Amino acid sequence: MAEEAINNDNSVQDQWGQICSQLKNEVGETAFDSWLKPLTLGSFNDGTMNICVPTRFMRNWVITHYSDRIHKIWEKKNPAIKNINFVVQAVQEERPSLYNPTCRSLLKKITSTPAPQNVYQSGISAVVANNNDTALNDTLSVPLNPQYTFENFVVGKTNEFAYAAARKVAESRNVSFNPLFLYSGVGLGKTHLMHAIAWHIKQQDPSRNIVYLSAEKFMYKFVRALRYKDTTAFKEQFRSVDVLMVDDVQFMGGKDTTQEEFFYTFNSLIEEGRQIIISADKSPADLEGIETRLKSRLGCGLVADIHPTDFDLRMGILNNKAQQLGIELPVKVAEFLAQKITSNIRELEGALRRVIAHSQLLNDHEITLDMTQDVLKDMLRSFDKRTTIDEIQKKVAEHFNISVKEMQSSRRARTVARPRQIAMYLAKQLTSRSLPEIGRKFDRDHTTVMHAVRKVEELMVEDTSLAESIETLRRVLDA
Ligand code: ADP
Ligand code: MG
Repeated sequence: MAEEAINNDNSVQDQWGQICSQLKNEVGETAFDSWLKPLTLGSFNDGTMNICVPTRFMRNWVITHYSDRIHKIWEKKNPAIKNINFVVQAVQEERPSLYNPTCRSLLKKITSTPAPQNVYQSGISAVVANNNDTALNDTLSVPLNPQYTFENFVVGKTNEFAYAAARKVAESRNVSFNPLFLYSGVGLGKTHLMHAIAWHIKQQDPSRNIVYLSAEKFMYKFVRALRYKDTTAFKEQFRSVDVLMVDDVQFMGGKDTTQEEFFYTFNSLIEEGRQIIISADKSPADLEGIETRLKSRLGCGLVADIHPTDFDLRMGILNNKAQQLGIELPVKVAEFLAQKITSNIRELEGALRRVIAHSQLLNDHEITLDMTQDVLKDMLRSFDKRTTIDEIQKKVAEHFNISVKEMQSSRRARTVARPRQIAMYLAKQLTSRSLPEIGRKFDRDHTTVMHAVRKVEELMVEDTSLAESIETLRRVLDA
């Protein structure tokens, strides 16, 4: 009886269909779509049912997570099935994909043409992976900044712990802390440390496959894979990764499917003993909009924070930079900068660059305190009074006679939507916040902010009275 059912393709297919719906209910749609939907039935011999899996990586995953369950359900439905065997069988791709062999070799050809002198500036991400899967990982990783090395990292009280942790991870052959989670406010050296780890590992062992990418890029890639129903290829990209670094994971806040995917990628790499390094602007526990289980996973390795700089570190960094650039920086000027520009290292470097550029433009004019104060006048004034997104929301809402709550609501009526777009536009113009950061203040994502900025720019050309109102608002806010 059971044999008959096996011989009858339809009923086996039917059974498989039923098993799939049951599994979908049990594991949820996302996990089902990612891992179980791609499975197809193969042949049946001697009580063994072959199930085809598109890749080896998926096969391992399915075996560890789902095979017992599939076996149990099936045995119940059809006792003739004694075993289940998962076989890797690549699916025929209907549309061109970077992951099929032809395109892969094409891509290799492109990337193996002589690299430009400065790979970093060229934007070509051919620097990270070094093994046979280069072409694949090129599409994942972003370039490393050659300046971001341990040698160029100045260590002080505020960052010594994070530095020591990063060095330890870079130097250990065995995975020591997993994940290493670095967090701090902006411009304090997280990205620098991550790149430094990558450079160090690459130098020690060029065969190790390091992927560094921002959480935004991870999301973008994943969403695109979903759109093209190509999540298998997406997962496959992580198969050969030895070290995965994901920068700025706070941007994953609120993106549930991406988080889920990240969680799976994360867990499977950890299980396989690969090193993971994460950065964010907050500690794992304080991350907003991140699922609890992911937060606790992120915090289960070593968590290291970088504190705001102190005067000594700022002096050290200025000294180091000046030396690197071969610039004579008078102590008085360095002290002035270190006292005034306390927000973060990126801004401190920006100020120094401005002073140097100015002196060079004036035919190698000597750097003096007067000149520095003069060159940085605007910058220092804006430090004294920084416009915040909260202030912008408040002022714009007042101006248009709506409440801040309405501005942040999901209402789309023009009387609310227009002021919201204007506030987004002004936030982009008047603060140094990134699009996702602005978006979060309005409970929107960064593409909405981008759209708002463009829209307001267009409107200002068409509508002079609106342009004037915005100008007035800008002056009030920027005063
Ligand atoms: P984050 O990722 O935390 O926002 P970055 O790593 O991008 O910050 O650092 C901002 C800038 O400051 C970079 O140019 C980086 O090289 C520099 N920087 C940060 N920390 C240090 C340090 N300890 N020594 C030297 N440069 C640093
Ligand atoms: Mg960074």
